Amino acid sequence: MILPENGKNKGGLGLALVMCPGWGVIQPPVGISYLKSYLEGYGKKVKCFDLSLELYKVFPEKRYWDLNYPEHFILPQLFQRDVLPSLKPYLALWAEEILRYNPKVVGFSLFMSSVNTSLLLAKELKKAKADLLIVAGGAEVTRAKRVAADGICGFTPINDDIFTTFDLLIDGEGEEALLEILCSLERGEDVYSAKGICYLKGNKVIANNTRALIEDLDVLPPPDFSDFKLGEYTRAELPFVTSRGCVNRCTFCADSPLWKVYRHQSPRKVFEEIQFLVRHYGRNQFEIVDSTFNGNVRRVGEICDLIIKSKLNIQWSAKVTLREEMDLPLLEKMKKAGCSSLAYGVESGSPRVLKNMRKNTNLDTAKRIIRHTHRVGIQANCFFIIGYPTETEEDFQMTLNFIEENARFIYRFDQVTGCHLEEDSYLGLNLEKYGIELKDDGWYSKDSTPSTRKARYDRFRKLARKLHKHYECEVQA
Ligand code: SF4
Repeated sequence: MILPENGKNKGGLGLALVMCPGWGVIQPPVGISYLKSYLEGYGKKVKCFDLSLELYKVFPEKRYWDLNYPEHFILPQLFQRDVLPSLKPYLALWAEEILRYNPKVVGFSLFMSSVNTSLLLAKELKKAKADLLIVAGGAEVTRAKRVAADGICGFTPINDDIFTTFDLLIDGEGEEALLEILCSLERGEDVYSAKGICYLKGNKVIANNTRALIEDLDVLPPPDFSDFKLGEYTRAELPFVTSRGCVNRCTFCADSPLWKVYRHQSPRKVFEEIQFLVRHYGRNQFEIVDSTFNGNVRRVGEICDLIIKSKLNIQWSAKVTLREEMDLPLLEKMKKAGCSSLAYGVESGSPRVLKNMRKNTNLDTAKRIIRHTHRVGIQANCFFIIGYPTETEEDFQMTLNFIEENARFIYRFDQVTGCHLEEDSYLGLNLEKYGIELKDDGWYSKDSTPSTRKARYDRFRKLARKLHKHYECEVQA
């Protein structure tokens, strides 16, 4: 299949991209915003819908949209009891609204928390227009495809309706796959031959050859937020992405394996994208939503140099890893370039646990970077994980000691979580090796159980109160 050159094929087939509840309402959904701008660059007509925000506005229980606690959208019983009654009246209305744009294809972004609502809406759309091609992509598709291939599903079961409801599932990056599907449709060719997709044929899940990753991320245009009501999101920062993947492979992380390899945009491209967003949306606050912004530390410095030279007046935040090269001069430069806060995954105060997590850092580096971040006037926000499978009482006490010792320099505890097992992480795929047993009330290892995690979390909370820190936290069994 030969893809068209950018800018060709004007007036192509229509695609609706839908983000269903529950998805967060702090910022517009960035993934479908990128897909829209990429596909429109090839002349396709694309309309995005953030139905999660729409439902949030009318829903009585706003707390369900806290993505630290997505269980009301995930767990069937809670979903049926607490979400469905208020959601139901909107499904037909949403389907009608989407079909008003006469799309030939509707694409859903599937995450664990958006699967149930996406399936219901997809069924409603099919009922209204049987010949509509309905596709889905996202992390839950990758999980569903893996489970279909190896049959192993340790945690939340895959909803089999995913395979029977969506015509095609896109595993991995959506840009080129969607473009190929739209072009095939236009030319009357077979859409089921596209690379990187899977689909149900009879009782069998067919997975086509995987699609190569986009090597040069500079080819991607800036996100297009024009279909979203930007003033209705809870945060002013506009999100954007400068890289995909991560240089690390922490054992608990499913994000890094999902993207396979680390790729990033050039400093010039990042800078031009920021300039575009400032000009186009009149915003000067941004959040770089990369898995890790400093996968290439030199690049961070070069981006900052460009911002400083241009005298662009912006503020931005990012998640970064605790790398040796994050020295004082670089942090000073980042501050000068408008960096207002950095989120660091410290995770534990125990060297033994950090090593087991494959964090690729050490506590001396962590301390130095956190203190320097504070010194230059950037907020240092820290993530910690409570109850990692091998975390003993002694290890946990070391985490509390680390927090206490460095509290003066930490602005906020950003997401202190009871260790959540991500199914596609190294931990999730190696339960036996870690002696992890899954039970109805959560997972158990020799050193970590739902009750130890709860007790440790309570102790963290007590300490955080004592330290008068803000914290955003969750405990998952
Ligand atoms: S540094 Fe962050 S994004 Fe990278 S592997 Fe570790 S947890 Fe995942």
